[in-house]
Amino acid sequence: MEDLAIMYHYVQTPKWRGIVPLDPIDFELQIEWVTKHFEVVDPTDLGKQRSSKPFCVLTFDDATKDQYEVAFQILSRKGLPAYFTVMSGPFVERKVPIFHLIHAALSFFSDEQIWDELNNRYDVKDVPEKCQIYSYETSLFRRYNKYALNFHLSEQESREFLEEKVLSIFHSFENFIDSYYINENEFIKMRQAGMTLGVHATHHRPFSGDARAFFDSEIEPCRQFMREKLGVEAKWYTPAFGGGNQAERMMKELRGILENHGFVGAFTTKPGLNSGLDSFWLNRYDCISLPPRSEFPWK
Ligand SMILES: [Zn+2]
Repeated sequence: MEDLAIMYHYVQTPKWRGIVPLDPIDFELQIEWVTKHFEVVDPTDLGKQRSSKPFCVLTFDDATKDQYEVAFQILSRKGLPAYFTVMSGPFVERKVPIFHLIHAALSFFSDEQIWDELNNRYDVKDVPEKCQIYSYETSLFRRYNKYALNFHLSEQESREFLEEKVLSIFHSFENFIDSYYINENEFIKMRQAGMTLGVHATHHRPFSGDARAFFDSEIEPCRQFMREKLGVEAKWYTPAFGGGNQAERMMKELRGILENHGFVGAFTTKPGLNSGLDSFWLNRYDCISLPPRSEFPWK
């Protein structure tokens, strides 16, 4: 086991308060470290004969705009391949997953303001004593807001509240989606530049426990979108939330269905190295657990 896969989400200067991105300077330093120790390849090349160095695949989840504007530009300049994933729901149904709406809303409004508005509209008096899972957040109001929006309100209530906040900044949903995500033209440019595009999700739901139904609702519609709009026949898959609570079951029960539909492999959120394409489900290290942000974890 010596090949590395790295998982990236946002790569941008920390201009938004809702998220903890990897700074572009750290991204460049990481790429320097990677190219010193590994040969950067696209996922399919994991199956080829190694030269002197082990392989590294750079993988990007969620297709947020910064990945096109920052990471893709840096990688193109250096002539390095990478693997980016598509989430089709926002384009096809104009529906943005709740966790992205939260990132966006918490970026543009103060925690106090959001908490005040939640209090005016909903019964959230139990939230302060229940929100311990967010104790890593230093701001109290941020803890309350995250708990209220993720767990206390119904999905419908959270969605209504958050969409209204986001619309007050971006004016139209189309405008928000185009600002927040890599769009069709940009994906096509990335494909033409040699990047590998794979399936992330339709709606970004965790594995449901029913492999067939999950494939039909979360994987196939995204693949169809990629075929029709991007001209790509997707062969790689990255499950949303790494599959979620039922990740182990997902790995057992979904693999055969994916292989029958021509998928070659998939990237999990389980940390660890890989050995070529010996395993269908490949391990990944999060970018912040590697240099320059952290020590090399396995040496
Ligand atoms: Zn994701």
